[in-house]
Amino acid sequence: MPDLEAIRERVLAVRERLSEIRPDYRVRLMAVTKFRSREEALAAVQAGADVIGENRVQEARQKWESEKPPCPLHLIGQLQTNKVKYGIQLFDVIESLDRPRLAEALTRGLNEPFPVMVEVNIGREATKAGVLPEAVGEWLRQPDRWTRLKIIGFMTVLPAKRDKSLAEERRIRHYIREMVDLWQAMRREQWPWAPLDHLSMGMSEDWEWAVEAGSTQIRLGTTLFGPRPGDGQGP
Ligand SMILES: *Cc1c(COP(=O)(O)O)cnc(C)c1O
Repeated sequence: MPDLEAIRERVLAVRERLSEIRPDYRVRLMAVTKFRSREEALAAVQAGADVIGENRVQEARQKWESEKPPCPLHLIGQLQTNKVKYGIQLFDVIESLDRPRLAEALTRGLNEPFPVMVEVNIGREATKAGVLPEAVGEWLRQPDRWTRLKIIGFMTVLPAKRDKSLAEERRIRHYIREMVDLWQAMRREQWPWAPLDHLSMGMSEDWEWAVEAGSTQIRLGTTLFGPRPGDGQGP
């Protein structure tokens, strides 16, 4: 049996820490609920999580299709072009827009603007999805590509810490800073199709650093729910 009380307490603790670090604005707290039950996810929302994030369309359909969650539902994992229809139906925001082909497939399935975040591979890691930081500007500045997508922000999965050393902390904080700089530079362009109000950055390992630097949304799994079942890591 999941310990729902423990989940609620962890959400409250994170919320408290968020308002300490950022008394100036409310950081959006996403509960990442891959491999978690509906009731665990709902306990987190009840205690103060603002958004639910799911990685897989199939899992999200099973959990949320017949009874929608009481908060926005975001997709944060890879979307295959043949599942675009479900992506649009089920989710309020697709945060994992990671390639032009997916943007084209989404556009074909839409009649009116749909909110997305562009996923940036800020660490330039071969194993990670996302657009390289140096390619973001070129992709975003073309209005004919963005007729039915509204780019409300950037999402990034930071490189993982290799150990708990200060050198690693510096390395991760460097990517965080680079991501904030890129976000701010793109916002200054003021493209009507890309208001870029959100920066979805920070997971269980690094969320405090991300929030200190200006992240507007963090995505927490392990910190709220404990280690994931199975391999403990997930995707
Ligand atoms: C799993 C996952 C998270 C949450 O990871 P934790 O380290 O458990 O907090 C956040 N974002 C994405 C894209 C994920 O896949």
